Amino acid sequence: MLKVEDLSVHYGGIHALQGIGLEVKDGSIVSLIGANGAGKSTTLRAIVGLVKPSGGRVSWNGEPLGGLPTKDIVSRGVCLVPEGRHVFPNLTVDENLTLGAYARSDKPGIAADRKKVFGFFPRLEQRATQKAGTLSGGEQQMLAVGRALMTRPKLLMMDEPSLGLAPLIVKMIFDIVRQINREGVTVLLIEQNAKAALEIADDAYVLETGRITLHGPGRALLQDDAVRRAYLGEG
Ligand code: ATP
Repeated sequence: MLKVEDLSVHYGGIHALQGIGLEVKDGSIVSLIGANGAGKSTTLRAIVGLVKPSGGRVSWNGEPLGGLPTKDIVSRGVCLVPEGRHVFPNLTVDENLTLGAYARSDKPGIAADRKKVFGFFPRLEQRATQKAGTLSGGEQQMLAVGRALMTRPKLLMMDEPSLGLAPLIVKMIFDIVRQINREGVTVLLIEQNAKAALEIADDAYVLETGRITLHGPGRALLQDDAVRRAYLGEG
């Protein structure tokens, strides 16, 4: 289980996270929704050690992650698919996937995971030798998810996977997230697409200007009046 307690992050004078707490139980899908600038990306970046918190604790299966280098957090099974995909445009699809496994030495395991990624995303297999920079936005998102899967994560964290994608591709990405979860990977998802994020979530949190303001099962938050007004464009 991932446990975040009283986590604070400052960027200079900006208090971006003001003591947030959340839990991600093994095997679940948890969504964190909120407006632009609420602190969603900062939360994920702090969990993987890409920004240094000014206070609070993050633990994974009881072990504190605070202070560990990102690579050591990833090697414990906690992996982030960053916003904007960040695939290597001049490398091929296959090379990008191989890089995802750079810290592993179990060749048969790596080969099996590559096969699994191509099973999830047959389009990537068709484009295995193509440069990643020539892929569509949706394909680059698939590749970013595939690369993360090559680390064999136990917890997959995704920063706005639907950003800038056509509705059909968004649906496909969310279907794959469900499938990945069914295979035993725990998921923490942040999204501006609140509807899709709440529909898929066992548990969800609303973040507003650095604080958690609501928490409950995804389906319950979908019915919540304040959530419907603020995030689902209703009423
Ligand atoms: P978005 O969906 O736009 O990424 P978000 O909810 O993920 O929004 P964050 O990116 O975490 O929000 O930003 C939270 C706050 O921290 C915002 O006020 C933002 O301007 C500020 N911030 C984020 N990164 C930095 C940085 N590197 N330096 C200074 N301020 C930052």
